[in-house]
Amino acid sequence: MNHDQRKDWDTYFMDIAYMVSTRSRCDRRHVGAVLVQGKKLLGTAYNGAPSGVPDCSEAGCMISEEYELVIQDGKETMVKKQRCIRTIHAEQNLLLFTDRIDREGSSVYVTDEPCWTCANMLANSGITEIVFHRPYPKDTDKVRAMLEQVGIRFRRLDTYQPPQETITAVEN
Ligand SMILES: [Zn+2]
Ligand SMILES: [Zn+2]
Repeated sequence: MNHDQRKDWDTYFMDIAYMVSTRSRCDRRHVGAVLVQGKKLLGTAYNGAPSGVPDCSEAGCMISEEYELVIQDGKETMVKKQRCIRTIHAEQNLLLFTDRIDREGSSVYVTDEPCWTCANMLANSGITEIVFHRPYPKDTDKVRAMLEQVGIRFRRLDTYQPPQETITAVEN
């Protein structure tokens, strides 16, 4: 590979986030997140059960069912959705495993658009940018509005292609 074909930094760090996501043992969703300061990688995390607790591959997902308001063909309808609540989300694990001083002014690269709770916690964590790839429509409106309010840059890598070997089926 010559220097002209070198990966740009966004691709480089998102590739690492996808690589990290393959560590997840939840069958429903594999999410990876990395903390980046300047061009330095300061932490990695994926969604998983707390250490010492059986993970989803051993104990099965812990499914919670909730009705959610979705817009289908311009009409609002309530749809029953299943989510796995056994795992700590990747973004929250990233906050548990990194220091505040490392987060100040840093970026988070995450494979999936953060949910409301994760976005809320990231907003209070010292980071100033979130870069994601796969959209998560459920919370996107309120997440965008809140991040704009606190001045955190929020970018989707629209044209990004994850490394083939890191892609796993995702349920919404
Ligand atoms: Zn699970
Ligand atoms: Zn989350």
